[in-house]
Amino acid sequence: MQTPWDHRYAQRTQRMKGSAIRELLKVTEMPDVISFGGGMPAPDVFPIEEFREACDKVLRNQGKQALQYGPTDGYLPLREMIAAYSARFGIEVTPENILITSGSQQALDLIGKIFINRGDRILVECPTYLGALQAWNAYGAEYVTVQSNENGMVLDQLESSMRSGPKFIYSLPNFQNPTGVTYSLECRQKLVEVADRYGVPIVEDDPYGQLRFEGENLPSIVNLDNKLRAQNGTYTGNVIYLSTFSKTLSPGIRLAWVIAPTEVIHKMVMAKQGTDLQTPTFTQIIAYEIIKNGFLDKHIQTIQNVYRERRDIMLEELQKNMPAGVQWTHPQGGLFLWVTLPEYMDSNVILKDAIAEKVAFVPGDCFFPNGGGQNTMRLNFSNAKPEKIREGIQRLGRVIQKYVK
Ligand code: PMP
Repeated sequence: MQTPWDHRYAQRTQRMKGSAIRELLKVTEMPDVISFGGGMPAPDVFPIEEFREACDKVLRNQGKQALQYGPTDGYLPLREMIAAYSARFGIEVTPENILITSGSQQALDLIGKIFINRGDRILVECPTYLGALQAWNAYGAEYVTVQSNENGMVLDQLESSMRSGPKFIYSLPNFQNPTGVTYSLECRQKLVEVADRYGVPIVEDDPYGQLRFEGENLPSIVNLDNKLRAQNGTYTGNVIYLSTFSKTLSPGIRLAWVIAPTEVIHKMVMAKQGTDLQTPTFTQIIAYEIIKNGFLDKHIQTIQNVYRERRDIMLEELQKNMPAGVQWTHPQGGLFLWVTLPEYMDSNVILKDAIAEKVAFVPGDCFFPNGGGQNTMRLNFSNAKPEKIREGIQRLGRVIQKYVK
């Protein structure tokens, strides 16, 4: 239908594209489709009882505050708690360094809003998180890409890409979305060292870091950067760090946080006021109420156990059902693994067939900002129950088999 708005759209809308994943979510709502598509946590482990109790308690004791507007930077006790939590991982900050956002997705958008001019180059891994590209495309970002392998960014390429003068580096060091890859210690150190040498700051997006179910935790980028710059490791501000409660408590509450220099927080606060005034007071107080007595530590262990089992089953079924020439990553945490098909295959074509067989995944090309990746796919292992994972990978194996030359 023609509307009076048709020729009035801003130029920035020309580069806006619906997320392939969000489109896919519609298909996967069909009851008998087994979906490895969305990045959805296991609903089986949502702490529903804890939410019910906290809602009741908060409404009884703090109802007037919880239903009222609150400050843009967030509920102070929650920010204090995040500061204390961060200190456990060697990130020494005060609540003034913390902004509560409506999901990390909003933090990415605010970063775009305050830093990206049309034509600015952002250095990203290839493939990288689609939601960041979606957020930054609207601000006219261009991308300099560095390929990644099983250890993270390909280090030789990192140095040459820095010469193109990126505005900042976007890095996903833990169980990356979409590949499930974790940066090695060497990759982390080199990234920090090269960024320092070229004077380029880093955005570290870490929604999955707490969900390691195998291997040793590695220091975060912000940590290594602080060590490089300040003798005592206190926060120096070269790295903006993002994390979220989406994967540890619930994505439906839309609660995440940014750690940044206070000056950057001030700019983000102004940008956020124009967006949504504040993150809902209600969900912030509820989350605080649930977490304040240490609930998250034991809950994260439960999540880790469930995800480890699901990942193992997916790996086992891939091994049994994928034809020769298909490869996949072995994530040590997080929600995703990444499949690389023989080069002549196109995962967008395969997806149509797969949906007919009632199994879904995300074709990998959407994670490549400058094209490529047609023979790749992202599989989510956190959402489906074990028996569904088995059945789904068997279906997928049969579909892919048909394309073998
Ligand atoms: N960054 C990355 C890398 C993600 O995978 C996600 C979730 N899919 C987000 C940010 C956004 O998370 P949320 O808005 O739910 O906090």
